[in-house]
Parts: sequence; C-alpha cells; structure tokens
Amino acid sequence: MFSKSIGGDKQQMANESMVNIAVRPLVEYVFRSGSLESGFRTAVSLTEGTKAHQQVQKQYGEGDQKEVYLKAEIPCGDLLFVVDGRCDGLLVGRDGGWTIDEIKSTAGDLAAIREDTYPVHWAQAKCYAYMYAKANGQREMGVQLTYVQLDTGERKQFRMRAGLDELETFIHDVVRQYAPYARLLRDHRRERNRSIAELAFPFPGYRTGQRKLAGAVYKTIEEAVGLFAQAPTGIGKTISTTFPALKAMGEGKLNQLYYLTAKTVTRTAAENAFALMEAQGLQAWVVTLTAKEKICFSEEVRCNKEDCIYADGYFDRINGAILDILANETQLTRPVIEAYARKHRVCPFEFSLDLSYAADVTICDYNYVFDPKVSLQRMFAEQKKETALLIDEAHNLVDRAREMYSAELRKSGFLALQRAYKEKSPSVAKAAKAVNALFIELKKRVEGSSFQTDLAAPELLLERAEAFAEAAERELALEPSAAGQTGSSGSSEADARELLLQAYFEALHFGRIGKLYDERFVTYTEVTREDVRIKLFCLDPSHLLQEMGKGFRSRIYFSATLSPMAYYRDMLGAGPDDYTVSLSSPFSRDQLEVVVLPLSTRYQDREQTRVPLVRALQEVTRGRPGNYLFFFPSYAYMNMIYEDFAAVAEEGTELLLQQSGMTEEDREQFLAAFVPNPAPGRTFIAFAVMGGLFSEGIDLVGDRLTGVAIVGVGLPQIGPERNLIRDYFQTSGRNGFDYAYVFPGMNKVLQAGGRLIRSETDQGRLALIDDRYLQPHYARLLPEEWR
Ligand code: SF4
Repeated sequence: MFSKSIGGDKQQMANESMVNIAVRPLVEYVFRSGSLESGFRTAVSLTEGTKAHQQVQKQYGEGDQKEVYLKAEIPCGDLLFVVDGRCDGLLVGRDGGWTIDEIKSTAGDLAAIREDTYPVHWAQAKCYAYMYAKANGQREMGVQLTYVQLDTGERKQFRMRAGLDELETFIHDVVRQYAPYARLLRDHRRERNRSIAELAFPFPGYRTGQRKLAGAVYKTIEEAVGLFAQAPTGIGKTISTTFPALKAMGEGKLNQLYYLTAKTVTRTAAENAFALMEAQGLQAWVVTLTAKEKICFSEEVRCNKEDCIYADGYFDRINGAILDILANETQLTRPVIEAYARKHRVCPFEFSLDLSYAADVTICDYNYVFDPKVSLQRMFAEQKKETALLIDEAHNLVDRAREMYSAELRKSGFLALQRAYKEKSPSVAKAAKAVNALFIELKKRVEGSSFQTDLAAPELLLERAEAFAEAAERELALEPSAAGQTGSSGSSEADARELLLQAYFEALHFGRIGKLYDERFVTYTEVTREDVRIKLFCLDPSHLLQEMGKGFRSRIYFSATLSPMAYYRDMLGAGPDDYTVSLSSPFSRDQLEVVVLPLSTRYQDREQTRVPLVRALQEVTRGRPGNYLFFFPSYAYMNMIYEDFAAVAEEGTELLLQQSGMTEEDREQFLAAFVPNPAPGRTFIAFAVMGGLFSEGIDLVGDRLTGVAIVGVGLPQIGPERNLIRDYFQTSGRNGFDYAYVFPGMNKVLQAGGRLIRSETDQGRLALIDDRYLQPHYARLLPEEWR
C-alpha cells in the first residue's frame, strides 16, 4: 500500500511536470507584441483564411505534403514540454531536403509585409522545422513563409535555411521563456486539486433536494453527458452545481468550468458561492467577464493604439500583467481586474478574456460560449473536452439564443454609407449602393402590406452583403489617416469610419447567419415609413445550441423554472443520453397562501375589468400591511392600473412604479424601498412588469416581501414574430400556441411568483389574477405547491 502510494505520487508528479502545448499558443505567448486593433481583420480571416490556405496547398507539387502532424519533447529544467501541431506544408526540395511552409493570409497590403514584420510567424515555422528534423534525422531544414492577399490572391514568400542545432537552440529558448508561466500553472493546479480534495460542503448539512442535485451534476460530468435540472428556490442551486463540479475537477475529470448566466445579479451569486468555498480553503482562479462596453476605461470603445492608451502596446505588457494577477489573486472579479489593468496599462476587457484561458472557473454571459459573434474562439478542442458548462437560469436561453442566431440589416445604414463614401471610397459606395438598391426593390414588392415573410434565404442580398463586407474590410484595413484624403474634417471622417465599422460587423453577422440558415429559419421584411428592415429569424434555436455546445465534456442546464421540462429539453437541444432531474420545493405548503381571482385580463377586456381589477388588488393587501409586488404583463397595462389604484389607495399606502430603461443604480434604489421590519401598519406596493428587472433574480427575504399579485398569465404580446414561431411549431407537429405564447408566458409567472418565499421562515400571500388559472391547460403548468 505504502510503496504503491509512493509510485503513484511519482507518476502524478511526472504528469504534473509535463506541459502539453500546441505550437501556436506557445509561440503566440512568447512572441506576442504590439497593440490591440479593432479586430475586424480576424473575423474574416478565420473563414477566408482557410480558403486562401487551401488555394496555396492545391498548388503543391508531387511529393509535397500538407497538414502534417508533428510532435516533439523538449525538456526545460523540472518541466517536460510536449509540443505538437500541424504545419501547413512540408515541401520536398530538388536536393531531397525538406522545407516547412507556413501560410498566412491578410486583407492588407502585401507591400507592407517585410521579412521581419512578424517574428511570431517565423517562430511557428521554425518550431515545425525543428520537430520534423529531429524526428527524421535531418541536419538542415528550409523554412518558408507564404503570405496571401485575400482579395487578389497575390502572394509573397520569404525563405531561410537553418541547421538542426540552430533550430534546437531556438525552440529551447522559446520553451524557456514560457516556463515561468507553465510553472505557475502547474503549481497552482497541484494546489487547486489538493484544496478541492479537502474541501467540504460549505454548509453544515445538505438541504432537501440539494444532495440529489449535487449527485446528478457529479454523475453527469463523470459520464460526460448533459443534464436538465429544475431546482426550485431554496434548493441552493448555485452551490449544488458548483460544488460537485469542483469535486469532479479535483479528481481530474475536468480542468475548467464555465458558469454561464443571463444577468449580472446571477453572476454575483456565483461569485459569492466561490468566495464562500475559498473561505473554506478552496484555491481556484475564478474570473468574471464583464461586457466590453461596461468595463472599458475609455469614454468611447475605440480599440486601437491611436485612441486608447490601454490598446497601445497591449501585447508588450500582457504577459507581465497575467503573471502578476495570477501570482497574487484568486477571485478575479471586475474590481480586481480593473485594478491590475490600470497597474499594467492593459485593456481590462481583453485582459479578462486572456485570463479566462488560464482560469479554473469563468463566470460570464451565455454569449461567450453560444453566440457565434463573440464566442471564445481561441478555445481549442482539447480544452473543451476538459470543460463543463453550468448554465444558470437556463429558461432564458431559448429567447437569448433566438437573438444570437438571428440577424438583420436596415436600408438606412447603407444609404448613409453610399453618400458618406461617394468621394472617399468609390468601391465602398458602390457596394453599399448595390445593397441599398435591393432594399428599394424589396420595398416595392412589400408595398401594400408592411410585413412579408419568405421561407428561403435572400441569396442575392447575402451575396451583396458579403461583397459589401469585403469592400468595407479593404477600406478599414487602411490606416485612418490614409483613408481620409479628401480634406473632410477629422471628426466626420471618424464618424463615417464608425458607421462603416458598424455596418461591416452587421453585414458580417448577416452573412454568418445566412450560412446557418435552414428550415428552422424564416426571412421577413418589414417596411415602415422611415426604413426597410430584413431579418433572418431563427425560429428554433435547439440545433444551433447543440452545435455550439458540442465538444464540451458536459452541459448542465438548470433553473428554478424549467417547466414544462419536455419543452425546454426540446428547445435547448437535449441529446438522448442527457439526464433530467426535477426537484420539489424544499419549503412547506403552509408558508404560502395562494388565491386565484378569476378576472379576464385579455387585451380586449381590459377596459371592462379595470374597476374590478383595482378592487381585487386592494383585497390582496387588505388587513395585512407589509411590502408587496404587483406584476403586470406590459408597461401600458401597468401604468393604466397604477393610475386607477393610486386614485383610490388608502391613505398612507406608499406606491412605487417601475420605469422602462432603469439603470443598475435605479434598480438598487427600487429594491431598497422594500425595507425589512416595516413599521407596523405600513403598506408599500411596487408595480412592476413580468419578465423585467424585478421578476427574476431578486431576493427579498423575510418581511421584505409579504405578498405578490400577478395580473394575467404572462403571454408575450401577440405580434408577427411570435406568430411566426407559433406557425412553425404548429406545422412541425407541436402545439404552436403553447410554444410561442403559453410556455414562455407561464415561465414569467412562475419566476415572478417565485420572488415570494425565499427561505424556510418566509410567509406570504400570492394572488393569481386571471380566469385562465382555473382552466386545466394553464393550471397544470403551476407548481404543485401553488395548486
Ligand atoms: S479600454 Fe476600451 S477602448 Fe481601450 S482597448 Fe479596451 S475596450 Fe477598447
């Protein structure tokens, strides 16, 4: 037993000292330098770059090879680097010697690229050259860089020859520069896993349902499948999902964890859970990603060295910043990231993204994983295999996914660009004009009805939008000063450039969604007096969610309201092997008094039921002072009833009304009005909308909330988009009205009602005001404790 344990320890140490890394991230780490740019080049280069690569490779001669897998072991002190990768080309020379070819594509001017412009490209090629030479006994290798201009196909090549000794010295030097970072990671992981092994559940015991949820999460990760979990309020879903996932990480089943949320408040709850476990001994790097617009240090988001000091020289300083923060901090929250970003003068947003590649846990919005526009594209397949996704409040993902996988273009933007670039760049103006011309045709066709749908993708528009994106990219690739030679003022040039950049991204996204377009999409055109809008509308996002989640070890979807479960499994793309768990509420039925007040709140009856509704709402609070939340399906309805209610409210009753477009500060103030221990006899009522800021993710424990009234069954407003969803699901054999209206609506009801009982000691009154609550079709969707 003893000797076996020693042997095991040695083996473990040997494993820990092995650094498996691909050539590209290795050389990028060591050779990255310079400044951040807007990033418009990378997006296109990803797809077109592949095409350019293939064109070069097609012209390789007989005996030449492409995409050759190479691997080498490089010792460095106490570490052993196992470096691998695929070179673009391995070319045979006339003398029998071999040359590594590394292909790079660019939207810019080839004349601007000199032999020494990109040391990182040489580094990559030289690493491959060493790996091939070492494995095949070559004394000398050729190294070649091939640059391809994306639009013209023009090429430029640089060549050198290097002996094995020279290449060996080079690659040893590269790994030596990476080693401090590798050691930091190794030591941290050792410490992390040790701390996880010792970590106990951070509460004295498991609450009802908690052990079951934790067990289900662990098993799901162990078996590398998916899970759909409904965990009502009070289960403690954050800790019940993060704790078992960390345990799986400590046992080597995972290396990274992504905690994905729809809202900032849920992100804070996740941060608190990890902070709590850290207080019990956990050693893990937990990074929170904040949206670029929010965390940006500059007044305007202009990510280039001319406009932003945090973009200027970013890559020269980023490695130092990463080493510093990781050596000194574990909870990498927004304020911590901001402090180190200022210290090292690096962009806080890019810094946080860079940290997420090293972190054990990343807390972020859904879009970093599921949105093709912003997903963390640098994440390698190997990394994904060792990563689990914890997707909180997953009921939100259905509509969020629809947004992510839909794209639209508006006529007005192209018309403005056509004018703004007439002199400055005829090619941009021409491409914008071609798009605008199609919009004019569309407008004519739609005339008479302001809304028209088409099952097919708008192929011609997609073609022209792509051509526009190419022209825009060429223009944007020019330095700002070179782009504006027409004597226009600096600010109007900047505005035009901004407009172009925005249209470029929209056209790019439109093209990207066009490539995903299938029978689950519809195209619609909407004509208003001011504009023409065309949208590629994703009706069923399940397939794309599945695609984007592919490759991760496990996907764990959970929410207090994942009901009906069959609907959410269907919409979120569950696989046949994915588990389901539905837990009942841990609270006693006696804590909640539910009343149903059968009034019609249907749109056409609202005038008629105005007076009885106000009376019903008065009844909710009568004889029971305290803090109340009244929820409504829309602002218009809420405002109407608020007026009536205020006119007859008992003296001393305090009222508060939710406004649209409230800031985080407004939100905090609104919530602060729900005072604990309200004065005897005080009645406070806040009016809010369902599905808004106050119906989800807020926690008003104890007597901060005495009662909730829900007016209506939460159905989304009837409109053309919802009707398209209804028709699609109806024709595909499901209940279209339920899928488009009833299920999303009742989810909002469950969320709003869920604000009331937040702990074992809470008591409250819930009023459901609508006659449909008495219909079996709706009643069956209510949780058992409400029935
Ligand atoms: S600080 Fe703002 S403007 Fe500067 S690089 Fe970062 S996001 Fe861009």
